[in-house]
Order: sequence, then structure tokens, then C-alpha cells
Amino acid sequence: YHSLRPAVPLPPLSRPLSIVSYTLSLLQSPTTTTSGSLSSTDFLIDAATGRRLTYSTFLQQVSSLSSSLKSLHPSLSKNDVAFVLSPSSFQIPVLYFSLLSLGITVSPSNPLSSVTELTHQVQLSKPSIAFTTSAMAPKLPPNLPVILLDSPQFLSMLESRVSSSTEDNGVNQWDSAAILYSSGTTGKVKGVVITHRNLIAVIAGMYKNKLLNDEKTKEEENGVYAHPVSLLTLPLFHVFGFLMLIRTASMGETAVLMEKFDFVKMLEVVEKYKVAYIPVAPPLVVAMAKSDFVAKYDLSSMQKVESGGAPLGREVSERFSSKFPNADIFQGYGLTESTGAAARMRAPEEAKIYGSAGRLVQNIEAKIVDPETGESLPPGQRGELWLRGPIIMKGYAGDDAATAATLDSEGWLKTGDLCYIDSDGFLFIVDRLKELIKYKGYQVPPAELEHLLQSMPQIADAAVIPYPDEEAGQIPMAYVVRKPGSVISATEVMDFIAKQVAPYKKIRRVAFVNSIPKSPTGKILRRELVNHALSSPSSKL
Ligand code: AMP
Repeated sequence: YHSLRPAVPLPPLSRPLSIVSYTLSLLQSPTTTTSGSLSSTDFLIDAATGRRLTYSTFLQQVSSLSSSLKSLHPSLSKNDVAFVLSPSSFQIPVLYFSLLSLGITVSPSNPLSSVTELTHQVQLSKPSIAFTTSAMAPKLPPNLPVILLDSPQFLSMLESRVSSSTEDNGVNQWDSAAILYSSGTTGKVKGVVITHRNLIAVIAGMYKNKLLNDEKTKEEENGVYAHPVSLLTLPLFHVFGFLMLIRTASMGETAVLMEKFDFVKMLEVVEKYKVAYIPVAPPLVVAMAKSDFVAKYDLSSMQKVESGGAPLGREVSERFSSKFPNADIFQGYGLTESTGAAARMRAPEEAKIYGSAGRLVQNIEAKIVDPETGESLPPGQRGELWLRGPIIMKGYAGDDAATAATLDSEGWLKTGDLCYIDSDGFLFIVDRLKELIKYKGYQVPPAELEHLLQSMPQIADAAVIPYPDEEAGQIPMAYVVRKPGSVISATEVMDFIAKQVAPYKKIRRVAFVNSIPKSPTGKILRRELVNHALSSPSSKL
């Protein structure tokens, strides 16, 4: 399948170009700036404090930080990796843009990660420096040099007013831009290497969509076009949030940044700042569709809610649409390995295909492959989705075997998702072939939890599966075989895990069994366990 959207031309690959220069070229292009002076436009608004960061201050800070880093840390050079561990704040976009403009690879991690998780990530990406806060610094390996984002020294780097050109510091498009953590199709967490080219390709597609939308808006509203405001509650370490930040800057739009998600605060913010666009993970759409509280707020500015990262049920979309008839609910599908959305909806007519994840984005090809035979399947038939195009990752950092198992020699990315594409080009995600649980859109690799369970002296064997949950999408459920004589309880099992993992990875349901079903080669037969969990309410705690 080829994308049905007209191809978007990309800059020649031979031209040195960082995502920052590309973003700035769009930001400063006449099409973006027609609707007002950028210098006085807000790039970001802090939802908690109402503080604003204008484009002119943002660009000044990026330039100051880049030159300060160059002069104070001369050993930092192109292709070095910078680890970032911090909650969302105004400092993060400035830091990302500065590092990217210098050709330094940004590797952001979830601030909730445990020490063990962080140690593993650092081993994968081999950073030469870390940017973190004083509260989080003790979680990082002691030998890693650290710059504290909340130190006076960092603040002075932002305000040094020494300007540096954001022109490409010899950055090539194929250079690594980011290493983002994902478990991919197998249990182990890996570092997904995203290049500047990958990001440029994504932004080029989004920019094209914006131009098309603006055209339409102009026709419909007699040439009136206002700067749309979006709400960014997505974590900035995940590919979805990372991209939305770059997207906002490329289009000269304003994003309200919410560091800590709070449903009521979100409604207040939508009303107060007339938010038009909210990219989210499905639990938020569920909350909006179900809550009666929303009626207390004027949410009429809301034009589009775009859900991605995990499945959005057809009923939820329908319920949302009937509650908010003036807002379109769009779904997108993608992976960290495809630099975010590989399919999404673009027009309101597409949003009506409830349950679908939209159509392939520009410049991308897909095939649906029989997982047993490897043969390509025709429209309407279910198989594994494979993707190819300029948004597909370079590979996994320092893990050639995992890269070779996921990217074939022709450049196809094996997604591990069971899908079909209908004759109109709409993608439907049916199930997950890979071992991945998604709790509120966050990745929970079952193998990691199984490994921890097996380390418990009272446990003989264990398996972890996704259990459906209306609010979270899925929760991790453990099947546990006790050692002879052991009387360990479900609460003890859950507490043991909770102490060692980030909160979103906690086991939230446990069932005790006599044995774990396995294939002759020793592979856990998860499908059998999932069916068992769904059919036996007795396993409910
Ligand atoms: P991540 O790398 O964290 O973005 O996770 C990617 C995985 O999330 C995909 O391979 C899917 O299994 C799942 N996913 C993302 N978007 C959707 C969607 N719209 N519907 C179903 N699953 C999704």
C-alpha cells in the first residue's frame, strides 16, 4: 500500500540540515508568519503558573545555551549523546533545540524510571553528559557528568545572551537526533535511534497538512485565520510529545504545557486559553467522553482531539463525538520506531470512520504480511503491518541483532501489530502480536516483570499478560506458580514488584496457577493465558 496523500518533497539528503534549521526555516517562512509578528507570539504557556515564553525569548535562549555549551563544554561534540531526565518545563524545549542544533543526540527518559531502568538505558545510549534536576540527579549513575537544570549555572547559560548561529554545525540529515527508549517487539528495552531526516520527514508532512487546512479555513471563514493554541499534556520524553513540541515551533503556534496531568485543570486551561487542538493518549478521551464535569466549562474552542499511542475504541469515539459535536476526534497510529504516526486522520470525513487509525501518512508504504508464511496479503485481510519510508528509525543503539530482527534488508519495519487495511486505505489495528502491554499509553514490557517475579524466592514460574481495563486500556496481570510450600499472597507479589519499577509498570492483578502454558520451545503461550483471564472471573482479585 502506498500513502494516498500526495507525496511531500523533502530537502535533498546530501544537504547538511538539522531538524532545528528545518524548523526555523518553516517558522520564518512567509506562510507561517502572515498572521502576526512572531516575536510577540507565545510559543509556550505554563498551565500551572500562566508564565509565557515568547518565540523571541525562546530563540534567544536556544542560541545562548548552544554557545554556552560550546564554550563551557568544548569536549562535547557532534554525535555525542546527552541524557535528559526531567519533568516537562520550559527548559526542556530550549535544551532539546540547543542540543539538536549542535548535532548532539538527545536521549530523554521517563522521570518515573527506577534506578535499575535508568542504569540500563544509560548503558544502551552511552551518554557523555546528563541534564537533570537536583531532585532526580541521585538516580543517575555516579560517573555520569551532570548539568542541573535548576541550578543558577544553567539559568545563566540560558541568559548569557551570547548568540550563536543555529545554522547547521555540520549536522547531516542522516545523523542521529534522538535515542528514545522502547521495548519494540521483544521484552528488552532498547534505544530507538531517530535521525534528523526522520524528524524532517515527519514535520514536512505535518506542515503540508497545516497548509491544506489553512487553505480550507480561509475559504470557510473568509480569510480569518487565528494562531491555534494546543494543549501539551503528553510527556516530552515520548515520541508523541517530542514531535508535538517540534510541530508547534515549526508552525509558529502556541502550546500550553501541562507538567502534571490533572483532568479538571485541563478543562480550565481549555476554557481559559481557548485551546483548539489536544493531542492525547486514549485514557483522556475516555475521561472526556464519560465525565459530566465537562459541562461546567466552555470547551467550544476545542476543534480537534487527536488520540494515539494505544487503541481508541469505536464506542468511545462515538460517545465523544455525540458529546462534543463541534470537535473532531482523530485517531493516529505509530511507534517510536516510525517516529510517531505512520497513519492518522486528516479530514473530518476521515474522523467518521470510527475505530480506524486513519490512513498512511505521506511518503510511507505499508504491507500486511501473513505472520506464518511472510506473504503479502490483499486489502481486508489481517496480518502483521510492515512499514517503509523516511520516518523509519535508523536502528536500535548498539544492538545489531535487535535491529536486524526488526528492520529487514529492504528497509521494512516489522511493527508486531496485527492489522488490516480496507479498500479505502483505512488502517485498523486488530491486536498486538508482540509482547507489549500499554498502560495509559505507557510501555510495559512483560518480560521485564517476569524476570523480576522469577527472582522472588517463593515463586517457581511466572508470566505477565495484558488485562483489559476501561480507564487504562490495559493493566499488567501476573500468572504466578508458587514454589512448593510457599503461601505468598497476591498483595505480596504486587508490593515486591511495585518497589522495583516505575509506577505505571506495577502489576495490578495476580492469579495463582499450577503451571504456565509453554510451547515445546519454552515460549510462554500468552494467548492461552489472556483467554483464560478473560473467561474466568474467579481470577479477579
Ligand atoms: P510506542 O513506541 O510507545 O509509541 O508504542 C507503539 C505501539 O503502541 C504500537 O506498536 C501499537 O502496538 C501501539 N499503538 C500505538 N497507536 C495505536 C493505535 N492507534 N491503536 C492501537 N495500538 C496503537
